[in-house]
Amino acid sequence: AGKVEFRDVQFSYDPNRKILKGISFEVPAGKTVAIVGPSGAGKSTISRLLFRFYDIQGGKILIDGQDIRDVTQESLRAAIGMVPQDTVLFNDTIAYNIRYGRVDASEEDVRKAAELAQIGPFIERLPDGYRSMVGERGLKLSGGEKQRVAIARTILKAPPILMLDEATSALDSHTEQEIQAALDLVSQGRTTIVIAHRLSTVISADEIIVLQDGQIAERGTHAALMRKA
Ligand code: ADP
Ligand code: ADP
Repeated sequence: AGKVEFRDVQFSYDPNRKILKGISFEVPAGKTVAIVGPSGAGKSTISRLLFRFYDIQGGKILIDGQDIRDVTQESLRAAIGMVPQDTVLFNDTIAYNIRYGRVDASEEDVRKAAELAQIGPFIERLPDGYRSMVGERGLKLSGGEKQRVAIARTILKAPPILMLDEATSALDSHTEQEIQAALDLVSQGRTTIVIAHRLSTVISADEIIVLQDGQIAERGTHAALMRKA
């Protein structure tokens, strides 16, 4: 389960300017589609529309064939996991932050998720420093580490659909590789939409959609797009 379809989706934030001018694509259950394109093309808008933060003005968005207008906010939020660009964390332990949304999860499951996301040693920490460990420096979580907390939260939630917004912030290349590995792991077997800023990070996507000015300019596998370029 978890097929996502956009059918001729049209959207504007304000009536004088169309942001999405009829976008159609399909993400078969368990597959990965990457959306790339210049800043302002409408990539993040697509993710907001899937969560139904806004209603579309034309077309349809379907999950497993069902119009998302007929799905409750609760089921939508349960079905879709989001790893955002900038994760805002609660000022509580990392374990608390990972458990958020799955309060019933066991400590063991929280620890496993943290380990998979390579944030295991951090779970008793606060986002802005240690609680009161004598002799420890008050280390703050870096952007990359916060993103790993979001990944751990998603691993625990285990939604059928994943929405990944790749970090634009300058992560060092080692951190970026680690994050990429953790993201690959969490997207395994799930329907995944990646908002990507560089083609090089989405080589393995089943389809890449190049969005330009609210329209699909090109689509295909990484290899096919590279042949054209
Ligand atoms: P991308 O993610 O590709 O950079 P976005 O989807 O964020 O692009 O934005 C597409 C266009 O919509 C941009 O021109 C942006 O300025 C505009 N936009 C985004 N959010 C809003 C908003 N809340 N109200 C009005 N315009 C917006
Ligand atoms: P990123 O590029 O991933 O956002 P940062 O520049 O925020 O990373 O942090 C890089 C490294 O420095 C991280 O390992 C982080 O834990 C550490 N760090 C961040 N803030 C502090 C701080 N106030 N004191 C000590 N170390 C810090």
